[in-house]
Order: sequence, then structure tokens, then C-alpha cells
Amino acid sequence: MRRLRNVKIVATLGPASSDYDTIRALFDAGADVFRLNMSHGSHEDFLKRHSIIRQIEKDTGRPIAILADLQGPKLRVGVFKNGEEELEEGQTFRFDLKDETGDASRVTLPHKEIFDALEPGAHLLVNDGKIRMRVDECGRDFANCTVEAGGTISDRKGVNVPDVVLPLAALTEKDRKDLEYACAAGVDWLAMSFVQRAADVEEARSLAKGRAAILSKIEKPAAVKSFEDILSVSDGIMVARGDLGVELPVQNVPPIQKRLIRKCRAAAKPVIVATQMLESMIESPMPTRAEVSDVAAAIYEGADAVMLSAESAAGQYPVEAVTTMNNVAIEVESDPTYREVIEASRGSLKQSVADGIVSAAREIAETADIKAICCYSQSGSTARLVARERPNVPIVALSSVVDTARRLSLTWGTHCVTAPEMFRFKEAVVNAVRAATTEGFAESGDFIVVTAGVPFNVPGTTNILRVAPCDERLIYRAEPE
Ligand code: PGA
Ligand code: MN
Repeated sequence: MRRLRNVKIVATLGPASSDYDTIRALFDAGADVFRLNMSHGSHEDFLKRHSIIRQIEKDTGRPIAILADLQGPKLRVGVFKNGEEELEEGQTFRFDLKDETGDASRVTLPHKEIFDALEPGAHLLVNDGKIRMRVDECGRDFANCTVEAGGTISDRKGVNVPDVVLPLAALTEKDRKDLEYACAAGVDWLAMSFVQRAADVEEARSLAKGRAAILSKIEKPAAVKSFEDILSVSDGIMVARGDLGVELPVQNVPPIQKRLIRKCRAAAKPVIVATQMLESMIESPMPTRAEVSDVAAAIYEGADAVMLSAESAAGQYPVEAVTTMNNVAIEVESDPTYREVIEASRGSLKQSVADGIVSAAREIAETADIKAICCYSQSGSTARLVARERPNVPIVALSSVVDTARRLSLTWGTHCVTAPEMFRFKEAVVNAVRAATTEGFAESGDFIVVTAGVPFNVPGTTNILRVAPCDERLIYRAEPE
């Protein structure tokens, strides 16, 4: 089974996608990575979906990444006597720490840290930014505000405070429990919500202890400001446009998206473009033209992956949403303009041996009639460097480490295959030929490029390149020499 596109598809699972048949249909339609959202559902639901995905891996023989998304310090108001209230522009409204049900004039905001950090003139946004309030006066346990944009405020609605860096731990008590649970279950990626600084990521890394790779969701202005530092300690990035478009003026999101994608590619780390990509497909089998354009734009920009949230988790057309992304990707990637954009944004060559090798691998593959670039990659670093080149021939990544193969499912263009552990480059070549032919990338008589880092098992040692013929004797021999 091989995909006919390079960009990867992340599908969030939820009530609309929790049984084997639906998740399998999502996989068959094109989902490469499944996201399990720790904000919703119980640990039992989580484990059930997790084991279904592992079963699908067995049944299809393809490595699949599971991404557990930690809720993070999501701020919420308390509850109201009447469940909800209508707030009008120009009226005043008070947030405080009192443990009393709210009314039209006040509500509890049970986060002391917010009051500690607030200043007059700052803004509080409620309900995905639909309600906007300006702080007139504030103290250690209250904030009196004027409503600048009104609307319905109701029980436990989310609050954003974009103007101040909150002294909030990126991992709440719940996140720590969820992180441990998810790592013990064996997820491949952990996504951290509302990251504000590099230290937040390092904290999660120390708790994960290598059991999962760490993906930082960029959804706070502070994270945009410290992006370089955050990227350098993260294994991957999500452009979390939902909260980002609430915390910042919504028109700032597209340029940030473009900038982040380029920086992630330069760092050879996978980047996901997320949220509202095919929002209308929650209720409609047909996307809007604007949504199709948005998915296409992310692919043209060179993103590693595009993501579905409610479309696949709670919508009426989860499989159709994946199919739509798949079809858009195939169309975009066959457009000559796509290659032009990708080539133009490749960036200048770095200075290491590894950079030279992967660049040469791409040039040879694109110059001669080469069917695939096969890389033997224990840690995944060689494969990610090859992917950074965005070659126009398929990338087959071989690894004896199943975790590496699974994590690489998020990386642009990599078709991951688990292979036996190898000790000599000659064995890597034999296995690469075998993988390229059995997986349908090459036939007897074709040529492939093989890259690896020797000694094996040392990340970042990419230093060998060979053009190898797909010799029948290699393909059919039972064991490598
Ligand atoms: P969420 O994150 O779906 O967990 O809120 C993504 C986003 O904010 O875009
Ligand atoms: Mn978010």
C-alpha cells in the first residue's frame, strides 16, 4: 500500500470515528496519523481507539502515528445562574475569584494567575474570541471590564488573554496524568497546547523520557515571538490556527503560517497546518471552494501535514473529508507550479556532510532515471533531512525501530518500512532494494539511491550514498549477506 501524494493527513478521532470500521475507512481513504484529543473523552475511550489503530497497523502492515493532544492550561469561566447571559457592547462586566454562580454583571474566573498578570487596557476574550472585553480596573481577585464586542456568554466558556504572558505551567495536573497515560499506552507523538516558551517543551520532554516525540502547538502570541527557541527544543510543530486566530488578529494567521512552515522545513522538523481546513464538511458532503483553496495553499507552501479536527472527530462526513484532502493533495502535487514553489523555497545548502549527501541524493535521483531515494534511518534524522529536500521521487525510509517508522509517518513524503537491524551498509542496500521493489516503487532492472549514516544507530551521521540496481538476485534472496 502506497500513498499517491507526499503531504500527510492527520485525522482527529472522536464520537464520529471510534469503531474499527470507521477508523479503517479513514486510513484507507488516506489518514496517515491519528490524533486523540485528551480534552474530550475518557481514558477508556482513548485506549480503545489506540488499540484499534494498532490493530489496523497489523492488518495493513503499515506503520501509523498516534498523536495524543494534551489539553494544556485552557482557561474557562465558571457557571451562570441561568446557564447563559447576553452581553451588550458598552456595558460593564466583572470577573472575580468568588465561588458564586454568575449573572449578567459578573462571573467567576477561577484562575488566580490571570488576575496576577492582568493590567488595565488588556483584553479578555470569551467563547473563541466572539466576546471581547477591555480591562478598565483590576486587582488581585477581580477585573472590571467594558464589553467591546458583545454576545452570549455561557457556562464554562473558554477565555483567552492574548496581551499578557501568563505565569501558567504549560502542563496542568490533568496534563501530567494524561501524558503518563498516553506514554504508557505507547503513543508516538505528544502535542502540547498553549506553549509559551521553550522551557514548557523541555518539561514535557523530561516527563516523556523518550517514549514519545514532542510537538508544540503554536497558538499564543508569546509562542510566535519565541518561535526559534521553541522549534529548537521541539520535534515538530502545529500551526494551531483556531486559538491563534483568537489570540491574534485573524489576518495575522496566514503570514505566520507561511513563516512557520519555512522555518520548520529548514530545521527538518515536521509541521502540521491545523483547524477549520474543511470546517463546512462537518455538516456537508461538499467542501467550500475557499476551504479547498486553503488546503491547497498549505500544500503549496510545503507543509508536512494537513489536519482534520471536528470534520473527522464529530462530523457527518469523516471519510469524505479525508478523501477530499487526499484528492486536493494529488492535484496540487502534480501541478508544475507546485514544483516551482517547492524548488524556489528550498533554501541554501547548509555546511555539513549530511546536508551535502541528501542534496546530492536528490540531484542524482532527479537527474538520472531513479525510482526512489531509500534511506536507512534508525533515529529518523536521515529520513527527515531527505524529506527537507522535497525531492520529486518517492522517499522510502527503512528503520528497524518501529517507533521511528511510526513517528516518520508525519514527515512529508516518507513511506516508512520496518526492516531488520543492520550492521553493514551492504545489508542496508539489499534491504532497500527489497523494500523498494516489494512496496511497488521499483522493479527489477530499475535503479534506486540509497543513503544512510554509518555507524548505524548514531543520529546525524548521514554520510553514505550509493546508486544501486534493483538486481533480481538481491530481491529474491531470502536473507542479506
Ligand atoms: P485545539 O488546537 O483544536 O486543541 O484547540 C488547535 C487549534 O487551536 O487550532
Ligand atoms: Mn487550540
